[in-house]
Amino acid sequence: MKPPIFLPTSKKPTTQCPRCGLRYPTDEEKCVHCGDLSDAEVRSLRAKIEEQHEAHTNLGRLFITLAAILAVVMALALL
Ligand SMILES: [Zn+2]
Repeated sequence: MKPPIFLPTSKKPTTQCPRCGLRYPTDEEKCVHCGDLSDAEVRSLRAKIEEQHEAHTNLGRLFITLAAILAVVMALALL
């Protein structure tokens, strides 16, 4: 059975694509993410990736904030 595509498939060496910034296996002739895309499409792909990265960062901050609030609530409950 093949592993889902979004998981790191193996210990295959990967290289970072200078065009889209994503990683792809070095044994691929061209980037699997942007190899078939035009420049305009790569730009929108990069914008999308940056957006997702931003969302992840915000989510991380949210969790830290929630953890901090929870810690304060628990500290107060112990008083
Ligand atoms: Zn690429």
